[in-house]
Amino acid sequence: MVRVGVLALQGDVREHREMLESLEVEVVSVKRPEDLRDIRGIIFPGGESTAIAHLLRSSGLKDPLSELIQQGFPVFGTCAGLILLSREILDGRADQWSFGALDVAVRRNGYGRQIASFEVPVEVDGIGQVEAVFIRAPKIEQAANEVTVLASLDKDGTHPVLVRNGNLWGCSFHPELTTDSRIHDAFVQSL
Ligand code: GLN
Repeated sequence: MVRVGVLALQGDVREHREMLESLEVEVVSVKRPEDLRDIRGIIFPGGESTAIAHLLRSSGLKDPLSELIQQGFPVFGTCAGLILLSREILDGRADQWSFGALDVAVRRNGYGRQIASFEVPVEVDGIGQVEAVFIRAPKIEQAANEVTVLASLDKDGTHPVLVRNGNLWGCSFHPELTTDSRIHDAFVQSL
């Protein structure tokens, strides 16, 4: 069975775990560097990107993960997890760092604060319509040419909400908060 990690420092780890378990994947909660052993890919969950970034440092996970990502290790970043993967963070905290691996610029809370959380159907390439749940979501304001837009709020692809560049996937919304596991499945199938 494929072993997939969920970064388990803060955020909605349990929901991602449950989604992966429903796909009959062996799930590893990644809390320290040794948990990275033998996993084929990892999900960075939603939560609070500054808190997760802080814990990535104190847990000693930042450097080994950074190295793995440079070597092409598959990562799926959702919401705060997308922020952590992005090349550029707009409206981030002054000292906020990211892995800078996925060539997109994201604006923290770009769709508004908690009150502005919303749910809309979006069309995902190769999957079909999914319900997308946005909670203080980062807005992808710019994506490099080599980044593929898999779903967008507009038909013309100008407001990407799910993107992929090779082994790196990023999602503004929370695919783990519905009962629809098709996006997780697509990531797992790519491993
Ligand atoms: N706004 C959060 C952040 O900046 C992300 C929100 C989420 O993951 N639901 O970290």
